[in-house]
Amino acid sequence: MTLEQLKNTIAAIEDYPKPGITFRDITPLLQNAEAFSACIDFFVERYIQQGITQVAAVEARGFIFGAAIAKALGCGLTLLRKPGKLPGNVITQRYQLEYGEDQLQMRSDSLKASDNVLIVDDLLATGGTVEAAAKLIKQTQARIHEAAFLVTLDGLPGEQKLQQQGLACYTLCR
Ligand code: IMP
Repeated sequence: MTLEQLKNTIAAIEDYPKPGITFRDITPLLQNAEAFSACIDFFVERYIQQGITQVAAVEARGFIFGAAIAKALGCGLTLLRKPGKLPGNVITQRYQLEYGEDQLQMRSDSLKASDNVLIVDDLLATGGTVEAAAKLIKQTQARIHEAAFLVTLDGLPGEQKLQQQGLACYTLCR
């Protein structure tokens, strides 16, 4: 399967979740065994030789891709979760949404300074979510290799914002 064929499995849902918004729906990709497998293979091909020790995946759809990538790379999986879901000591990062704010949390003992971390989420829009993820990881002294996305929405400033902060970004589909 080519990247163009992969992209064609992602649906555009008009006026969801609000009028005027076009939501990119990845569920048809997940339901297509060939597409999901190809998508993980594309990521693994890029990262297999990069010494990644942990995949840090963002709740919730980032978990789907992050878990499969971590298994294929033979590395661990660190969960970046919405508030109140992780036991033990956690560190918290607030971030802005279009309306209001949200938080991500990570267990404070998740990562070591020697870790080489790949951040994974399904989609990059304004960049607020992965900016928060990167701030959590930086508190641990671990190295961030790159942030990987299935989809990046062109026309929004997310990718540029993250790159200006020194965070490399990679996406399969635009
Ligand atoms: P950002 O923080 O603005 O970059 O938004 C990215 C986060 O919002 C990701 O965790 C996505 O799962 C979610 N998201 C935003 N827009 C969409 C969409 O069109 N489809 C699927 N997820 C989206």
